[in-house]
Amino acid sequence: MSTTLISAAPLTSRSRLLVMGNWKMNGSLAANESLLADLLTAAQRIKPIERAELAVCPPFPYLSSVAKQLANQSIGWGAQDVSAHEKGAFTGEVSAPMLLEFGCRWVIVGHSERRALHAESDELVAQKALAVLKSAMTPVVCVGESLQERDADQVEQVIERQLAPIFALGEAAVARMVIAYEPVWAIGTGRTATPEQAQAVHAFIRQSLPSGAKDIPLLYGGSVKPDNASALFAMADIDGGLIGGAALVAADFLAIARA
Ligand code: PEP
Repeated sequence: MSTTLISAAPLTSRSRLLVMGNWKMNGSLAANESLLADLLTAAQRIKPIERAELAVCPPFPYLSSVAKQLANQSIGWGAQDVSAHEKGAFTGEVSAPMLLEFGCRWVIVGHSERRALHAESDELVAQKALAVLKSAMTPVVCVGESLQERDADQVEQVIERQLAPIFALGEAAVARMVIAYEPVWAIGTGRTATPEQAQAVHAFIRQSLPSGAKDIPLLYGGSVKPDNASALFAMADIDGGLIGGAALVAADFLAIARA
């Protein structure tokens, strides 16, 4: 692992809430333009960015148009996934250097839909996180347990297993990441973890972090909505949210950012 390459990736801070929209496989050129126009207008009026940093993660083909519309604005952008490889015969994949060319600052890796639907292993997720760091972007590493694992009291065990290869990348690498706790049973289900349940896992993740990376942002994701965001974001170890469904509605996304 090259320390020089990793140190090129930005250090993130907990000083402002980070609210990131994961658009998943939704949108169109016209719908995205209109959603972003609404977000930019409202963001100027209510200035949520004074306390929260906002970002959106559209599907790959829309990165170019989103980058043009958000250039020099207060909302950042990123991608929903990345290849672990830099280039070559990997049909259908998109590399980190390509994402960097489109101005991405953030890249989500290990989302539970990728883990479940594309059989991504913990080791592959860590390789993707490393690829993101090498291209001077920030990986947003998703972890979280299924309902079955929660019911079997295995939450900490699962999170520990998912994070082990991430932590094996070393303290300097982890210090440049964001970790998102997304219980699988709360994603897209309308069922949110209570603030106390979420805080308990965030505190566990925080204390597991290597000593030089204790202050990285920890996001919560899973059916975050305007009416539950304040209570979640008030928790000591929750530094913002990864938002799915509600990120597709400008008013909801901004209300969450204001929370
Ligand atoms: C997500 O997909 O990362 C997510 C949190 O989705 P939702 O907010 O719709 O539960």
